[in-house]
Amino acid sequence: MYDYLIVGAGLYGATVARELTDVGKKILVIDKRNHIAGNVYTEKVEGINVHIYGPHIFHTNDKTVWSYVQRFAEFNRFTNSPLANYKGELYSLPFNMYTFNKMWGAVTPEEASTKIEEQRKAVGIVKPKNLEEQAITLVGTDIYEKLIKEYTQKQWGRPCDQLPTYIIKRLPVRLTFDNNYFNALYQGIPVGGYTKMVNNMLSGVDVRTGVDFFEHKDELMKNAKTVIYTGSIDAYFNYSLGNLEYRSVCFENETLNKPNFQGNAVVNYTDAETPWTRIIEHKWFEFGKDEEGKNLPKTVISREYSSEWKPGLEPYYPVNDDKNGKLYEAYKELAAKELNVIFGGRLGEYKYYDMDQVIAMALEKVKTL
Ligand code: UDP
Repeated sequence: MYDYLIVGAGLYGATVARELTDVGKKILVIDKRNHIAGNVYTEKVEGINVHIYGPHIFHTNDKTVWSYVQRFAEFNRFTNSPLANYKGELYSLPFNMYTFNKMWGAVTPEEASTKIEEQRKAVGIVKPKNLEEQAITLVGTDIYEKLIKEYTQKQWGRPCDQLPTYIIKRLPVRLTFDNNYFNALYQGIPVGGYTKMVNNMLSGVDVRTGVDFFEHKDELMKNAKTVIYTGSIDAYFNYSLGNLEYRSVCFENETLNKPNFQGNAVVNYTDAETPWTRIIEHKWFEFGKDEEGKNLPKTVISREYSSEWKPGLEPYYPVNDDKNGKLYEAYKELAAKELNVIFGGRLGEYKYYDMDQVIAMALEKVKTL
């Protein structure tokens, strides 16, 4: 008999498993995939830690979370500075003085803010109601047209005027020359990959991979007092109230016989003609891999494609618009009636959480148990 059955060996599951094990609870973690670590899973290919489910850069302002993860991994000083490629023109991200200089020739912060203000006024937005209006308010029409509009349409499969404002507010806008994509005090990548980190988190915990919760639900639930479920909340209820919408991504991985393909970990393709949203060159997430290829003569790249989720695909991003928000609330009511089952994580709570938020939520939840 287990005190807790944890469904999903991602960051939420691994954090609660660690904490509950450390207070003497008997835990079983299962995952339907044949590996741990959920979507932060990394796998070594040609000596490079490949982010199999897309790029994950750990960043946080939460000192508790940062100290917590240090227990399980050493972090390097990687700083995410993606580039935008619009029809072959390269721009710095996030939107900062380098971007404004390339776009308009603006040299001073004053010139850049005047330009943004001019473009914002011309469109006449008072209170942004959707992502399009929010983006124009933040950076003006030129940047919206070249770096946001088509990328967002590809990423979300919806036009920007049908998306919520908060998505674009994830990105900083700065009148300084600073290409750091995140406004976070702490940032880095675990040396040796995320799988190693999650493996350390799960040390001494009973873990079974390749086990589908729904296939063995009755038996598994009989053997545990409480279930902590981190899969999709609508899947748990067999989609009885209808499907929540998710965006899915898939990757086309390629190993190239050259040491350096794009000179950066992440390049976003912001035009509509390029079918992928971004290309990841995994070796640049870690250091000591010099571009002449003395250490690593090859490189591994992943082209990322975005699509609407349908059964059989992996759900990645919740589509947190009004319609889905209402449906989620209805599922949440069902969840509240499911005594002895706790729903957590990005899929369990249907929220666009970053890794640090997932860990913070898991630590909070454990305090209540
Ligand atoms: N975005 C954009 N152009 C870019 C990068 C991001 O328009 O070059 C927008 C897009 O709508 C995206 C959102 O900003 O969904 C948030 O981007 P973020 O990089 O945080 O997304 P994630 O890495 O989680 O996919």
